[in-house]
Amino acid sequence: MATILDGKIFKQQIIDELKPRIAELTAARRAPGLAVVLVGNDPSSEIYVTSKVKTCLELGMRSEEIRMPATSTTAEVLAQVEALNQDAGLDGILVQMPLPKQIDSRAVLLAIDPSKDVDGFHPFNVGNLAGNIPGPRPCTPAGVMELLRRYQIPVKGKRAVVVGRSDIVGKPMAMLLLHEHATVTICHSRTVDLATECRRAEILVAAIGRTAMLGPDHIAEGAVVVDVGINRVTNREEAFRLTGGNAARMAGFDKKGSIVVGDVDPVAMAERSSAYTPVPGGVGLLTIAMLMSNTVECAERRLG
Ligand code: NDP
Repeated sequence: MATILDGKIFKQQIIDELKPRIAELTAARRAPGLAVVLVGNDPSSEIYVTSKVKTCLELGMRSEEIRMPATSTTAEVLAQVEALNQDAGLDGILVQMPLPKQIDSRAVLLAIDPSKDVDGFHPFNVGNLAGNIPGPRPCTPAGVMELLRRYQIPVKGKRAVVVGRSDIVGKPMAMLLLHEHATVTICHSRTVDLATECRRAEILVAAIGRTAMLGPDHIAEGAVVVDVGINRVTNREEAFRLTGGNAARMAGFDKKGSIVVGDVDPVAMAERSSAYTPVPGGVGLLTIAMLMSNTVECAERRLG
């Protein structure tokens, strides 16, 4: 029977561990502060931003939510970022991606003060990650590492395969696994014979963005499977097939008209792996906890 790597338990644990550090920072100087910039009104981004702000406030941190119209220009967003860079009461700045098409996302990313870059996407922090130098790490892969560590899943010497090579998940994920001494393979859309590559994995990480793309052929018996994907399924038949007709999940479908499924076939994952992260309830929950953790770390660094 596979172990379910439950994000809920460790999200709360990480949050609880931050509380005394936040209290110490507040007593020493002021509460840590995070600014979240949302440009436009993408519904998913709105949900993410609301939940980030809510978690900040629950933790007694300062939270600044800046909403800008969808018609904003690059210059306007850059001016806003610059104002936040100068705000001595803030330790972290997050610009919610994706930005509207007319905005130069790269320029915005580069404008964020690296010492406030809680997403860890600035080239300065990408360099820190590559060199294994302390600094904020991208939240989702950092959350995966926390989950593996807290479940005491050995990484050293293991064959790890990461499917996906994006700057926000795949690449930093591979780098973090490498720093923990895994032997890492990165796969992508041009990989020849993906199934064979994946079956070599003792730790398989899927960060693709394609519903249940990895199936039984991709999972070695007893592998640890980390499913980063978040895909919405709106077809009832497909939802039934993917969940193996799971009553609770189908009740969820009937209530909301959709369910969220990862990049790995959930039934195959449960049957073949030794441990796996469920979707929802796995990796996604840790992302926000790691954002809080990065903000507190940035505040601690600023305090010296
Ligand atoms: P991207 O679209 O930026 O990257 C997807 C990667 O998957 C690319 O490297 C692409 O390869 C690869 N890929 C696509 N199709 C195939 C294929 N057929 N075979 C092999 N590789 C393929 O996505 P992200 O990295 O941003 O996100 C990945 C998933 O993780 C998404 O579902 C997203 O929603 C989810 N996510 C979840 C988070 C969480 O908190 N849980 C946070 C962030 C993302 P190539 O480079 O060759 O195009």
